[in-house]
Amino acid sequence: MFADVILPLPLSNTFTYAVPTKMRDKIGKGYRVIVPFGKRKYYTAVVAAIHEKKPKTVETKEIYALIDHHPIVNEYQLKLWEWISFYYLSSLGDVYKAATPAKLRMESETCVELKNTEENDFPLTPTEKKITTYLQDKGEAKIAELEKNLKIKNVFSHIYRLTEKGIITTYETIERKYKPKTEKIISLNPEIDQKNIPELIGRAKKQKALYEQIISLLSQKNTPYISREEILKETKTSPAVLNGLIEKNILRQFSKEVSRIASEVEASRKPFPLSEHQQQAFDEICNGFADKNTCLLHGVTSSGKTEIYIHLIEKMLQEGKQTLYLVPEIALTTQLTQRLQAVFGNKLGIYHSKINDNERTEIWHKMLSDNPYEIIIGVRSSLFLPFARLGLIIVDEEHESSYKQQQIAPRYHARDTAIVLAHLMGAKTLLGSATPAIESFYNAKKGKYALATLTKRFEEVLMPKIIIENTKELRRKKKMKSILSPNLIDHIQQALDNEEQVILFRNRRGFAPRIECKLCAWTPKCRHCDVTLTYHKYRNELVCHYCNRAYPKPEECPACHEKSLEFIGQGTEQVEEEVSRLFPGTKVARMDTDTTHGKNAYERIISDFQNKKIRILVGTQMVSKGLDFDNVSVVGIIAADSLLNYPDFRSHERGFQLMMQASGRAGRRNKRGTVIIQTTQPELPIYRFIVENDYEGFYNMQLAERKIFKYPPFYRLISIELKDKNEQRAEAASHYFADMLRSLLQDNILLGPNKPVISKIRSYHIREILLKTENNLSASFIRKCIRQTEQRMREKREFRYVVLNYDVDPV
Ligand SMILES: [Zn+2]
Ligand SMILES: [Zn+2]
Repeated sequence: MFADVILPLPLSNTFTYAVPTKMRDKIGKGYRVIVPFGKRKYYTAVVAAIHEKKPKTVETKEIYALIDHHPIVNEYQLKLWEWISFYYLSSLGDVYKAATPAKLRMESETCVELKNTEENDFPLTPTEKKITTYLQDKGEAKIAELEKNLKIKNVFSHIYRLTEKGIITTYETIERKYKPKTEKIISLNPEIDQKNIPELIGRAKKQKALYEQIISLLSQKNTPYISREEILKETKTSPAVLNGLIEKNILRQFSKEVSRIASEVEASRKPFPLSEHQQQAFDEICNGFADKNTCLLHGVTSSGKTEIYIHLIEKMLQEGKQTLYLVPEIALTTQLTQRLQAVFGNKLGIYHSKINDNERTEIWHKMLSDNPYEIIIGVRSSLFLPFARLGLIIVDEEHESSYKQQQIAPRYHARDTAIVLAHLMGAKTLLGSATPAIESFYNAKKGKYALATLTKRFEEVLMPKIIIENTKELRRKKKMKSILSPNLIDHIQQALDNEEQVILFRNRRGFAPRIECKLCAWTPKCRHCDVTLTYHKYRNELVCHYCNRAYPKPEECPACHEKSLEFIGQGTEQVEEEVSRLFPGTKVARMDTDTTHGKNAYERIISDFQNKKIRILVGTQMVSKGLDFDNVSVVGIIAADSLLNYPDFRSHERGFQLMMQASGRAGRRNKRGTVIIQTTQPELPIYRFIVENDYEGFYNMQLAERKIFKYPPFYRLISIELKDKNEQRAEAASHYFADMLRSLLQDNILLGPNKPVISKIRSYHIREILLKTENNLSASFIRKCIRQTEQRMREKREFRYVVLNYDVDPV
């Protein structure tokens, strides 16, 4: 018997191992096993298939150990992993790693142990002394631990020398990383007769007092046991007294597994009744699901989509099915979780990257148990949880690009993957947005998805009035005396006079996006990236936004040695400074990645704004996203041009979505809000569609352009990136790759290799190849050609280590 297993390594295939006789009736698909791989290394692998076909290769290794008594990954998950690996051109191992909490994948880690401490004559270096002292203390340690706790660089070489000197020894361990959390529990010893207790306690007065207190605690709580911690806290007795009673065998102490994730949240309300418009949309969705698997809910901002979702979740509960509620960012879970918990209590589980790995592991186990969460709210990785009875996936703000994993493989799109998962499990997918992605709206128009529409804001709040300010003209007439136009300044002043709040949006953080020498045009660039540096005033540093390296700000121009450096453009820091200058005494806050670093920093800003402690909030796109505030009457969008003027076929779509979403923050129950957009190009058609709140008009214009220029939804894109520290090699490899792929694919459109706008990041030179394929071309044919090209390239020695990344359906 053989098992094909998935290893947590970037390998494109599964590996086959022999199943030892003793495991044969215990092993199955989705079970975890420990297997040897490479030199003395062990990994936790997941069984993908069991069969009797003996591999043709020389020797098949045996599985070392079986971990589970039941599958830890279900059939649907394995199928989803395979699809992601195929479609997004990623290795199965990378999908496995992205999909599971790290604690489910124990790995062998080298352990170090002290061998000989007394009699060695070798003089030790200070570093070696540090290591041996640490080991004397701890007995043993892992290499990673030494590196971390002793802050020793290249600790391997020191360990190697200590091993040679015969002072330490190393071995491989397999450690079960996930440990259930336990608690010490105290109960009375039922084998001891009550009558004998006074005699056992004797003259120990404190023990006698404690014993009586414990009896009364137990009867008060009407429970057979109580936690040790609670006893000590309630009785304020020292542990020694309690230990005395345990030693005398009067009390018993044992360990009990407790949950890290248990919450005592009680549901406190029923779903609110839906308004007439909401009810209509709800019915449209239900009717849509009767014959389509996916439905798009196009509802303007503040139309009350969440309450519709709540009713759909309630419906799923009644049918005994689970719901997955996806949000694009952790930040949005905070506001939503409270709303959902109020209705669903502890049926709701939360899953995102800020909860720690132990908790993630516990949630995973709970989902496999007989009592799983009925509803999960989370970011894209919650797609990977082991659902058993999934009925509905809600993809809220489906147009958000943060649904796409960008940096590391698998570069999957959570919205598109959700649709595939729902299909595998016989569930439905609801996409919701005020500004749907062009692709999603196209699918709805074509009848691939059902479409439900909500055009009225909740409680008849009016859509905001949108004013386009021509800053070029204002500047020509010398009326722009600030970053903010006179009209925007007036509106802010009025809002402040009326005790209302203001949001100002600028999509660039820092103080000035660039500095430049007035005399010789010198401008500072990052040494590792092909990027100009942004000036951050509060740190007084120049920062590269691609690799985060910081540089001191020069006092004079290094090229012509004049004090002639000036700031070009304005970032959020400068807007904040300007607003504070214009409205002295007003509480202003800034929200961008620089101010939301710390734990809860984001939540603090949001709650201060909600509680009206902050009057004006300045921020990047963070302020535009799905947050609900009820006292904002003015939204200002500064330098809207910068949203549109970058070379990407989606720049106008993104700009439209951002401006519409930001506008959506304006408006109050009894008053129409105002949005002021500052631009130097007011003639662009996009602004007309924004002013008229005309999504469909904008969509039609975009669609016509996409058709002419061969972009999605008419064509599918795969972006291929090749990187190397040696520029010639990157160039040569990308030409080799492009030529080979071109010859295999023939008619399809392959662009490049090109030098991208930012052609060097973190010292790697980048080349890009863009593949545009017609929709009807087989996905597996395209992928076969790409894989074949990759293989040929790797056969060339000089290209073996060139970094190669695929981005399917890039956003
Ligand atoms: Zn200069
Ligand atoms: Zn850089």
